[in-house]
Amino acid sequence: MKTIYLILVLLSTFVVHAYAQQKPYMDYVLSWDGDTSILEVELTYSASQKDSTVFVFGDPSFGGQNDIFNVIKNIRVSEPEVVRIDSATRQITVYHNGAKVPQLRYEIDGSFNESQPTVASQTELFRPVISKGFLTLVNKQFTLEITDESNPLVSFIWRDHPENFNYFNSVVPSQTDPSQKLSAYYNQVSEMVYFVMGSNIDVREYNVMGIPYYSVTTKEDKYGNDLQGSLSPFFERYFPSIHRFWNDTDFPFYFLAASALQNNQKEIGAGGFGIRNGFVMKLGRAFGTWEKYVTAHETAHTWVGIKMMLGKASFDHQWFGEGFNDYTTLINLANSKIYGQEEFLHYLNEETLKKHYESEVKGAPNDAIAANYWTDYANYGKLPYRRGLIYAFYLDNQIRLASNGKFTLRNMLLDLYRYRKAKSKDEALTVDDFISAGATYIDKAALSQQVKQFMIEGIPIDFNSVKLIDAFNVEINDSIPKLNLSEGADLATIYQW
Ligand SMILES: [Zn+2]
Repeated sequence: MKTIYLILVLLSTFVVHAYAQQKPYMDYVLSWDGDTSILEVELTYSASQKDSTVFVFGDPSFGGQNDIFNVIKNIRVSEPEVVRIDSATRQITVYHNGAKVPQLRYEIDGSFNESQPTVASQTELFRPVISKGFLTLVNKQFTLEITDESNPLVSFIWRDHPENFNYFNSVVPSQTDPSQKLSAYYNQVSEMVYFVMGSNIDVREYNVMGIPYYSVTTKEDKYGNDLQGSLSPFFERYFPSIHRFWNDTDFPFYFLAASALQNNQKEIGAGGFGIRNGFVMKLGRAFGTWEKYVTAHETAHTWVGIKMMLGKASFDHQWFGEGFNDYTTLINLANSKIYGQEEFLHYLNEETLKKHYESEVKGAPNDAIAANYWTDYANYGKLPYRRGLIYAFYLDNQIRLASNGKFTLRNMLLDLYRYRKAKSKDEALTVDDFISAGATYIDKAALSQQVKQFMIEGIPIDFNSVKLIDAFNVEINDSIPKLNLSEGADLATIYQW
């Protein structure tokens, strides 16, 4: 496996270089002095036969970047080129006027708003952070979108950077010298570039079933965190567990980047976002139970939510994309012993069953979620997570009972994953596929009725009439179901693969 992987990497690197002479390109040269909040960007690109090139900067859907021209500044070209900026559309148009090698220079201002500490986690998560001794950048914060997508080859190189700072890039993570050029394809770059550089940065590499995993953290913070120590159980146990769950090691690499907020006046929480094969978290408090859950949930999305989605859009069937992902997260946390019995039952009972059965919108139909998602996130945003997790738990119990313990929900999900792999890229998994996969294990008519009633129409499951495996029992108080482990039952035995 290892040999094949190496050969493929060499081959694809070679292809990038071989084409570099012919295909249109965008070459970014970056500079930062390690001290100020300014990143200097010099973009050289090909624009043969074109009178002008149109770029777009920023993405308002990424954390609401509305005042984007406070971030990109001092945009300039050299004669004979002329640049025109339309801040309303975020468009930057360069008229080449016969220039042989078009070049655009600009600055990214990574300073943050000192007067608004309560939005610090948000502004640092969705804004470039460039401060004394510390830099984090995601592509949406410093690269330009070329509107005609005409330049397929992209490269990055650091011209000026502080010596002896630790450095991580998500393009080729094994490359640890910033002055070496990184090459990628434009369509890859749009979802995968993350840079971290700093004096307080620690980068460690793990080998998880032959796949390189990178752990990128701040070393010390004012919350007393030892982030490398907090993340190591994920690399040592959780990732092996979830790869074994899915029988899947089809991955080039994966990274987790967790850093303490720089501009935090008080303890105000944590935030994160996933980018293809990585997860970025910023936190302003101690790494605790919630952060463990978030790390596990977001990284589990690699399968349910990214590789596997029901319907064409992620909003169609979030009960699967979020809820079934939450269940695989929870049972993998149990399998890897990151969550013990108490944390497992707390998440199932307090965070899920109680909140769901107390919710005023628990009976809202599936198609009411998208419309209310952002305006009423507390109710509608959480609804599909809870509804889906509860059903996944119930379905797992049904499959175990019907097969006398021989099969579990995992077998059905693995079959569904095979369906996914047999389809073309443009073809979506459907609710019918979900039902077909489950019909191997339980009665098809019953399953189809359950999906329709509980997931699509939104009728809450009545736990009075639910039969569970011997290891679990349920009590119902004021219409709220609460699960317990039966005497002698052990999570590590229930959830093993
Ligand atoms: Zn999620």
